[in-house]
Amino acid sequence: MKQHWNEWKRRWQQFMIGRYGVDQFARFLNVCIILLLAVNLFLRTHILYWMAVVLLVYSYYRMFSKHISARFQENEWYLRLRFRMEEKAKRWDYQIRQMIKYHIYRCPGCGQKIRIPRGKGRISIHCPKCHKDFTKRS
Ligand SMILES: [Zn+2]
Repeated sequence: MKQHWNEWKRRWQQFMIGRYGVDQFARFLNVCIILLLAVNLFLRTHILYWMAVVLLVYSYYRMFSKHISARFQENEWYLRLRFRMEEKAKRWDYQIRQMIKYHIYRCPGCGQKIRIPRGKGRISIHCPKCHKDFTKRS
């Protein structure tokens, strides 16, 4: 049994020589395929099913491809895109947290934006730019 397994492993390795294999983009595609199929369990549309099939074929095509540099570039493109998305998500996350924690007021004197923590009741605000005092509900 173990010998059998080793034989299959050897054949597989032989087959994969000079072929691209699995990268981060491939893992991402696999996650997409699983998600599409999972959603399809509930929605049962042909579109989702065929999208999953197309992605699956594409994913295998990349894995067995011998055009290493082309596949490498696709992965680089994917990683750059993912990085940009993650940066954007971090920025949104930061802005949403700021909106929950703080209130942004404009000074009635000079228009300077002033950040005030929320939930402190009526407070007196001192503008750091024009030194005008005004009161707001935070
Ligand atoms: Zn001011």
